[in-house]
Amino acid sequence: MAAVFLVTLYEYSPLFYIAVVFTCFIVTTGLVLGWFGWDVPVILRNSEETQFNTRVFKKQMRQVKNPFGLEITNPSSASIATGITLTTDCLEDSLLTCYWGCSVQKLYEALQKHFYCFRISTPRALEDALYSEYLYQEQYFIKKDSKEEIYCQLPRDTKIEDFGTVPRSRYPLVALLTLADKDDREIYDIISMVSVIHIPDKTYKLSCRILYQYLLLAQGQFHDLKQLFMSANNNSTPSSDSSPEEKNTDRSLLEKAGLSESEVEPPEENSKDCVVCQNGTVNWVLLPCRHTCLCDGCVKYFQQCPMCRQFVQESFALCSQKEQDKDKLKSL
Ligand SMILES: [Zn+2]
Ligand SMILES: [Zn+2]
Repeated sequence: MAAVFLVTLYEYSPLFYIAVVFTCFIVTTGLVLGWFGWDVPVILRNSEETQFNTRVFKKQMRQVKNPFGLEITNPSSASIATGITLTTDCLEDSLLTCYWGCSVQKLYEALQKHFYCFRISTPRALEDALYSEYLYQEQYFIKKDSKEEIYCQLPRDTKIEDFGTVPRSRYPLVALLTLADKDDREIYDIISMVSVIHIPDKTYKLSCRILYQYLLLAQGQFHDLKQLFMSANNNSTPSSDSSPEEKNTDRSLLEKAGLSESEVEPPEENSKDCVVCQNGTVNWVLLPCRHTCLCDGCVKYFQQCPMCRQFVQESFALCSQKEQDKDKLKSL
């Protein structure tokens, strides 16, 4: 009945006819231009526009020299009973202070204190900030530029065999690196490094590893040091093995003023190729996944990491264009 009525109206009223055609026109135009906010218009937009709208935010980075280096030697053999070997590599004379069974809560309170007023530049300062909430402490002097292996073990008379069930209130080991010479503290922005280390014991057998590394700045900020995942090229000889000293002297830290940071080893000459074009030198770090796998040319085409498909929220360059040009001039 209604249909018959509509057809009659359609046949006899030119005004209705015009109104129907006009409505259809408006709806179609609206769909094409994406006025209605439905999903359909996304397909209709050209790809350049889409790219523009979701462009990855590029972070401004600041390069800072980190005088401290600390690694675990042979983590698989470390345990509370047998002890742990740490390899230090510092650009200046430093002090390594190990705190066994350090209170988790007090450590984070100490970092907060550092942020607000109480700068942790010496072992003494950390001990005060921790209210001595640790079970055992030992200290070693680290000579400048010497890769030293330091063996740490809890003495038997402490009778500590584990640090309780999970979740724990104490970290097995907190290693603090500080500058030994007072004058050096004036030169560096980074005044100390706190490494939180897990060591397996009877109750918690998770393998030995560095859980966190915090870099403490003279201005009060502290940053979580994170490794980057570089795409390795098997065809070239890994220069990291042949010149470990050189690599470590060049160790640098990139950070966004006050917010984020990553430890960066400078891209080795021609050894790291872009995973996409296989030609350009890898220069871009994608965040949050930290894959470092794209060159200057390819980075703009990716909103998802080509290694892990994670959406890229931010990215930053290891080496600015100016520095790259400088390097090229040098090598010429
Ligand atoms: Zn590329
Ligand atoms: Zn990734």
